[in-house]
Amino acid sequence: MRVPFIAGNWKMHGSRAFVEQILPALLAIQSSSVEVAVFPPFVFLSQAQTLLAGSEVKLGAQTMDAHDQGAYTGEISGGMLKECGCQYVLIGHSERREYYGETDTVCREKVIAAQKNAIIPILCVGETLQEREAGKTFEVIERQLWAVFRESSIHPSALVLAYEPVWAIGTGKTATPELAQAVHAFIREKLVSWSSSNIAQDMRILYGGSVKPDNAAGLLSQPDIDGALVGGASLVAESFVGICNSIDVD
Ligand code: PEP
Repeated sequence: MRVPFIAGNWKMHGSRAFVEQILPALLAIQSSSVEVAVFPPFVFLSQAQTLLAGSEVKLGAQTMDAHDQGAYTGEISGGMLKECGCQYVLIGHSERREYYGETDTVCREKVIAAQKNAIIPILCVGETLQEREAGKTFEVIERQLWAVFRESSIHPSALVLAYEPVWAIGTGKTATPELAQAVHAFIREKLVSWSSSNIAQDMRILYGGSVKPDNAAGLLSQPDIDGALVGGASLVAESFVGICNSIDVD
């Protein structure tokens, strides 16, 4: 059974005071049937680790470097994230792909490095508006996924996927539940052919792109949507808690 998962990507937002104020508020999440994780900027991870100690809310990072250590100024390794209590790391978020040149190959290396450090990567894939309008959505998703899945050292059972149409991120334009479900079903079909039916059925595929409390239930009720990767709405405790509590456990 796939446990629903709500992940809050804070991006480059927050401050020590913000962390102090929002994390205790997240402890109000009522459902024990949903897994919740927050992804603060690197510099707040240790503070978040302390505040979340003993709670069910998990911690993740927004990216990491593929190397273990060395002369890579400004970068952070999987081992460092592990020491700060991270159980998850986002890999290949569209903002990393667009602004920091992360290619499919770099994403593959990072997924491998995360798993080597016992951190579960959340691999983000998604098409741009231009690609969707050109009818290339499935082609793009398949390419981004295959770049990682073709590598035999990947452990599919220690991986989460996130479908995030780029045109829906931070724009207020959410994919309809039906449109998102069609892509999620396509991803699951691909997983069956590349790994096994069991792995495909167990793997969680999150949807991301302007998820808010008022559209979450419709998206999360789709059979192949197993949770949400939430950006903007994860910065407001009430909204994030509302999204977590909209999971229908029946
Ligand atoms: C994201 O950053 O992954 C995201 C989905 O952002 P937003 O919810 O703001 O669209």
